[in-house]
Amino acid sequence: MPDTCKTPLETVILGSGPAGLTAAIYAARSRCCPLVIHGAQPGGQLTGTTVIENFPGFPEGIDGPTLMERMHQQAERFGTRFLEGEVTRVDFKKTPFQIWAGDDCYQAKSVIISTGASPRMLGLENEWDLYGRGVSVCATCDGFFYKEREVVVVGGGDTAMEEATFLTRFARRVTIVHRRDELRASPPLQKRARENKKVAWRWNTVVTAIHADQSGVTGLRLKDVNTGAEEDIACDGLFVAIGHNPNTELFTGQLHMDQDGYILTKNGCETSIPGIFASGDVQDPLYRQAITAAGSGCRAAMMAERYLDDLAAYED
Ligand code: NAP
Repeated sequence: MPDTCKTPLETVILGSGPAGLTAAIYAARSRCCPLVIHGAQPGGQLTGTTVIENFPGFPEGIDGPTLMERMHQQAERFGTRFLEGEVTRVDFKKTPFQIWAGDDCYQAKSVIISTGASPRMLGLENEWDLYGRGVSVCATCDGFFYKEREVVVVGGGDTAMEEATFLTRFARRVTIVHRRDELRASPPLQKRARENKKVAWRWNTVVTAIHADQSGVTGLRLKDVNTGAEEDIACDGLFVAIGHNPNTELFTGQLHMDQDGYILTKNGCETSIPGIFASGDVQDPLYRQAITAAGSGCRAAMMAERYLDDLAAYED
């Protein structure tokens, strides 16, 4: 640790996606001397995407890994330090807060949790190999690449309806494959999808295999869950929309969460413990965009700075 940073650390940021790195840029510039702890694949979900065309400031688009690398450099430029390590335990019940990564324990006066969420996947053998080559979890990010193509959306919730409806702007046809004969999605979103002539439906059906060649996805094997009958269909894209799991297991029992495990916040970033803030997808089941995550990282860093100022005034 550089000696400019006293123990305990002012701010520890968990996660290095757009929320964590934006928080780091703001925290570093306000001399909160942040330490970002990230896993073996820094950068969050965006590192798995191809071209990002909706992040403001990049009219020609930018690929996910490059955007994250640039955010990393920007955070580093102002003095953010990065540590690769798996956080295995935290103790937020007493201050300074304690965070264990590997064999080391870090103490922090404030913590910003930006551990993100992971898309639920179907569990098919080659789905991660084909991620970005026909398999996607984000129509907003990738829909544009499916102009006049045939795509399948899996799921029966709000996300599946929204993704399918959005994809009809580009695709020739969008088939929604759902494992039951009833949708979980809210009535307005269902209605919009049901009334869209480009949307086709496969009820009581699951995807059991993804077919592909060197250029990417070429088709799917579908199975009727009632009859067991299987069928191969041709398609160019598979959008998996079966929900996300927030990465919050570490904080179970310490922070208030909703029934799906998302961290509950007030004022957009304050958790149930003063001094612990949350930003990005870990507290946002709704928007889940890079730009909203970045905005919430900014907010968390500003609130952490205020919290540290108050703490310093109290300690003086
Ligand atoms: P969700 O509501 O949990 O729905 C997931 C869907 O995927 C369900 O239909 C589920 O089937 C299906 N599914 C789950 N695991 C599956 C598997 N292994 N194989 C096949 N299908 C599977 O998730 P979501 O749609 O992402 O929505 C998450 C939250 O965000 C919800 O609260 C939703 O209301 C909210 N949201 C709101 C909006 C909006 O208001 N505009 C937009 C998007 C999301 P079953 O139905 O059979 O369980």
